[in-house]
Amino acid sequence: MARQEYSADVVVVGCGIAGLSAAVSAAEAGANVLVLERAPKDDRGGNTRYTESFWRMKDHDTIADDFAERLAENAAGYLDPEVTKDYNRPYSDWQPLLRAQPALDPALIEAWGEGAGPAVRWLESKGAKFDYLPIYFLTVSTSRLAPVGGGWALVEALAKWCETEGADRVAIHYETTARGLIQDEDGRIVGIRALGPDGPCEFRGNSVVLASGGFEGNAEMLARYCGPQTQWTRPIAKGGYFNRGEGIRMGLEAGAAPGGDFGSFHAQPVDPRSGAIEAAVVTFNYGLLVNLDGDRFTDEAPATADACYEAISRDILQQKKGLAYVIHDARLDDVPNWRLGVRSDQAPIEAATLAELADKIGVNFNRLQATLAAYNAHCPPEPTGDAFKALELDGLRTKPGLIPPKSNWSRPLDRGPWRAWPIMCSNCFTFGGLKVNPNAQVLDMDGRPLPGLYAAGETMGVYHRTYTGSTSVMRGCVFGRIAGRHAARSNV
Ligand SMILES: Cc1cc2nc3c(=O)[nH]c(=O)nc-3n(C[C@H](O)[C@H](O)[C@H](O)COP(=O)(O)OP(=O)(O)OC[C@H]3O[C@@H](n4cnc5c(N)ncnc54)[C@H](O)[C@@H]3O)c2cc1C
Repeated sequence: MARQEYSADVVVVGCGIAGLSAAVSAAEAGANVLVLERAPKDDRGGNTRYTESFWRMKDHDTIADDFAERLAENAAGYLDPEVTKDYNRPYSDWQPLLRAQPALDPALIEAWGEGAGPAVRWLESKGAKFDYLPIYFLTVSTSRLAPVGGGWALVEALAKWCETEGADRVAIHYETTARGLIQDEDGRIVGIRALGPDGPCEFRGNSVVLASGGFEGNAEMLARYCGPQTQWTRPIAKGGYFNRGEGIRMGLEAGAAPGGDFGSFHAQPVDPRSGAIEAAVVTFNYGLLVNLDGDRFTDEAPATADACYEAISRDILQQKKGLAYVIHDARLDDVPNWRLGVRSDQAPIEAATLAELADKIGVNFNRLQATLAAYNAHCPPEPTGDAFKALELDGLRTKPGLIPPKSNWSRPLDRGPWRAWPIMCSNCFTFGGLKVNPNAQVLDMDGRPLPGLYAAGETMGVYHRTYTGSTSVMRGCVFGRIAGRHAARSNV
């Protein structure tokens, strides 16, 4: 069969928030656009389809107060002042070495923050509605907005635009997997080699936007970059299985510089028994976490739930079989609305006595009892009145000598009935990706744009260690729009 060929001005890989934002923006700028999507139409939208899509914003036009600070805190490992002294100069004057390093550049944080409000307004112009919607963390450290209907509503609004108003300029090819970049003899990226429902095909254009997510659905890349314990993780929702890292691999093979932390991913604590979307269990602040040996291994409450769940998930991953149990006694019922913090659709493991609970979760009773006894002995005197403040950091810290300590909400666990949930570390999305400049152009190892190549969303690498929550959909939209507009007018 002859290889099918399609051509347009801009080729976009991926149909999540980043790809659709790029495609619609390129089309609005007058370009003809081809979009490749690995999934069938009913599953389109990758991770975006499954997220509630919180945005770290104060209101529809303003980013949260801590937005830039939190991102800058996790911009790299130890920045070398000799290399980063150029940060004080305009980006165009930076030495190439600095542009190509994997750190999240201040110029990128700036473009991201500046683009957030306009991105919300742009999505609203496509039919989305943003509001202050409830989140499942019982204690929070920042402000957030979200679209009514979550990421699914964003995917549907933008895809609908492509199918109606933009139909003469945008064509989405479903069940079509990008496999390789096409480069011309001058090294410019001029298209994508793919496999579609009818066999091999080529998509040619002046520019290519890679928006195919991270590598959370690729076990080999996860083990290679993030380590063998990733065998105990899984994507937090179905969308992650579609993201198998081809965009990142293609970019690196073409000479792109790596961006972000290749050894990390956004970790979230979920109930492994549940197939629900984001089956998170985040009540551990009020209880204890034990591993399969019955031992504690982490401070369960160093900060508000939304600020510590990722680090705690990573600690869980390091335990035997990457598994822990959160143990609660009857005092859990003192926490208003604690059920909000459990999104698993599986019932807790319940028992009248600790011995029965140990038996049910398969943990040695003597060890579990000793763990609880040590913890109970280090709890501050049983708080009276309103010293225990479930919905704010209450400073009820264990007495010195307990390792690890518990920094807040420390009350003895000694009163049945008992409840436990198993918790594993799920993989929401990976951090490592392609280094881009503020135009979303992919940079080579010498800090120069790879002609014709852009990346947006998870495919661009920015985060290190700790994910600055509620910024990834925003990243996809902001840099997708930038990529689409730049690609539409770029022939350089
Ligand atoms: C349950 C859940 C909750 C989350 N909560 C939040 C939140 O509240 N706030 C927030 O900011 N972020 C959140 N995130 C993260 C955020 O949703 C994602 O990081 C973001 O939506 C990614 O957008 P994207 O466009 O880069 O990738 P995706 O939306 O994953 O889109 C990638 C697309 O590329 C396609 N694709 C992959 N490989 C290929 C290929 N080779 N060829 C063709 N197509 C390909 C996929 O099928 C997919 O459609 C959450 C994620 C999940 C799953």
